[in-house]
Amino acid sequence: MIIGILALQGDYSLHAKILDNYNVNNILIKKPSELSHIDGLIIPGGESTVILKLLDKFNFNEGLRDFSNKKHIYGTCAGAIVMSHCTDDNLKTLNFINIKSFRNFWGRQINSFTDNIKLTFVNKPFNAHFIRAPKLLCQGSELEVLAIYKNESVLIRNEKHLVSSFHPEMTNDFTIHEYFISMIKNEI
Ligand code: GLN
Repeated sequence: MIIGILALQGDYSLHAKILDNYNVNNILIKKPSELSHIDGLIIPGGESTVILKLLDKFNFNEGLRDFSNKKHIYGTCAGAIVMSHCTDDNLKTLNFINIKSFRNFWGRQINSFTDNIKLTFVNKPFNAHFIRAPKLLCQGSELEVLAIYKNESVLIRNEKHLVSSFHPEMTNDFTIHEYFISMIKNEI
């Protein structure tokens, strides 16, 4: 199994580092043709406006839509915005998951924070990093909320895809990456 990490902008290298630490094969994805080599894709946090521009510039859109129909994608923070339907009128997001996103809901860079959140699928707290994080509003009954923090859904999945408003790659805790890998292996 190989995990791809979209490497156009954002903190893709930290995802590679945590996957390396846990001996998970991973490659950085810079061209649409590389999507055919992978079983699942991570779209990292960063700046959703820039990631969307670069996806367009490098002609990812059709290949990525195709990929999203067959395989698994995990979007973190900006990546979650990219995968959702964003309330910013001028932002053409990809709508891979039935979620409405509101950018910078949790405050500006200066308001970044970490806190322990409770996940539905394990019995230990996860230290989540929120950096200009979006609000993620579920729009469909097919969605499963895997973590709620201060009354907001912060980790959500549908059958194939996973999104979080926080950055799991900024810790050494592999729990959420491991969950995504189990989704790919069809174990959960
Ligand atoms: N607020 C950023 C955006 O709208 C996301 C920030 C992040 O990924 N940490 O793209």
